[in-house]
Amino acid sequence: MKIEISRGTVHDDLAQTVEAISGQNLFACYQCGNCTAGCPVSFAMDLGPHQVIRYTLLGLDSEVLASNTFWICASCLQCTSRCPKGLDIARIMEALRTVVLRKKERLDHLSMGDLTEEEIDRTPQIAFISGFRKFLS
Ligand code: SF4
Ligand code: SF4
Repeated sequence: MKIEISRGTVHDDLAQTVEAISGQNLFACYQCGNCTAGCPVSFAMDLGPHQVIRYTLLGLDSEVLASNTFWICASCLQCTSRCPKGLDIARIMEALRTVVLRKKERLDHLSMGDLTEEEIDRTPQIAFISGFRKFLS
């Protein structure tokens, strides 16, 4: 993908908002890929966590916000424990979820009322815990 970088797009509003919410410095990431390599669910992500960080920093807002990465993220903290720069990537994923939820633009949100009794019975408890961690923290 050809990317045009300019002062106007690098470290734009989205990047600054993500930094403010997460408390992380996106410039600290040097793209080693350790986070993505250790992520247990990266196979299901359309962008690796390291790509999400770089895309956010470069101002590729629509690509980042349309990706499934931060929704797939299970907040397991594996990436955070592996980052040689001490970045808390899980917090960055949480910040991106927060950005989208604050905009109220997410259309594929599932509410409990949409689930049948049988589906609720079959859903592992960890799924509910993950949901609380994603949406209420
Ligand atoms: S492990 Fe840390 S430094 Fe390496 S790509 Fe991921 S966030 Fe960047
Ligand atoms: S916290 Fe999210 S991005 Fe990081 S390793 Fe776990 S699932 Fe992957």
